[in-house]
Formats: sequence, C-alpha cells, structure tokens
Amino acid sequence: MGDTFQTIVDRDATLEDAPRLAQPVVDWLVAEGIVLAEAKPGWALGDHPAHPPGPHWHKAVEDARWGAPEGVAVYTERHIFWSNFNAGDSPTGSCPRCGTAVDEPSLLSDATTRWHETGKADVECPACAETVPLEAWNWSDDHLAFAHLGFEFWNWPWLSKEFRARMAGFLPGHRTAFLPGKI
Ligand SMILES: [Zn+2]
Repeated sequence: MGDTFQTIVDRDATLEDAPRLAQPVVDWLVAEGIVLAEAKPGWALGDHPAHPPGPHWHKAVEDARWGAPEGVAVYTERHIFWSNFNAGDSPTGSCPRCGTAVDEPSLLSDATTRWHETGKADVECPACAETVPLEAWNWSDDHLAFAHLGFEFWNWPWLSKEFRARMAGFLPGHRTAFLPGKI
C-alpha cells in the first residue's frame, strides 16, 4: 500500500499572486462541501497542513466507490511538483521555443538546483540557443512543474475531467498541469 496524490498546478502564478489566486479556489471547494475550511496537519504527507475532505468530496471524483480520501494541501510557495504516474520513464524537458527535447539531463538538473535555491534559472537551449527560464520548459507527460501554486489531493479517487476543468476555470489565461503520482 502506498499513498497516491494528484496535483493540479498553475504553471504561471507568480510567488506574489499565488495566495490571492488560491483563495477563491479554496472558497469554492469549501462552498461545494468538497473540503473543509480549516487546513490541519496530519491530512497530507508530512507536516504541510491540508483541508480534510468535506461531506460532498465525491463531487470531485470519477468513481467514489472505493474512496477514503485524505486532505488537500494547497501550496502557495516555490515548489517543484512532480509526477511518476508513468513509472519508469525519466522526464524529458523540451524547449518551449523550438520544441526540441533536451537529451543532456545535467543541463536541466543544474538549473533545477538553481531554481530550487533562488527561484530563478535560465537555460540556454542547445538546439536554438534561446535562453528560456526553467519554469517555461515543457515536460513529457507533465512530469515536472516549477511553480508557485498547486493543489495536492492525497489518496483521492481519480479526479474527474469536469472537476479539473472547473478548477482550471478559476485560473483564467494560465496554463495548468495535472500531476498524479504515487509514493
Ligand atoms: Zn530551443
């Protein structure tokens, strides 16, 4: 038995905007009865507080039959979100300017370290020589997202497409990513 998570990430929210963007989403989830208003520790992995499921949590999922969901952790800080749903694949980044996949893992892993430490890392694409911020790179199967806003559902049954679209609707004009995984 492991724990599963499904994270909906706003790829474009800035550190400054993240709390302001998160609030209406949380308010809606609470109003719908999908989560409870007060986030508490113990409902997600680690100490990060999470909103316990509300009385109508099943509205968010495809099939509630086997569900015993835990909390929803809301991240409004610099965070590297990841997914391992397609186990065994190693993530490949591709340049958002020219679309070329980068096959020098060290180029992006060095940038990952810099971004984690400072929130800023530019990568020069080996194919088109454009300098592109790390968070703008695209990843195979949405494996990674370098972002400031994410909603992480712990041990929820599969979130429905409709629900994910409603969530994305609160973040107009922003790119979102869906990162499911298992630990
Ligand atoms: Zn390029």
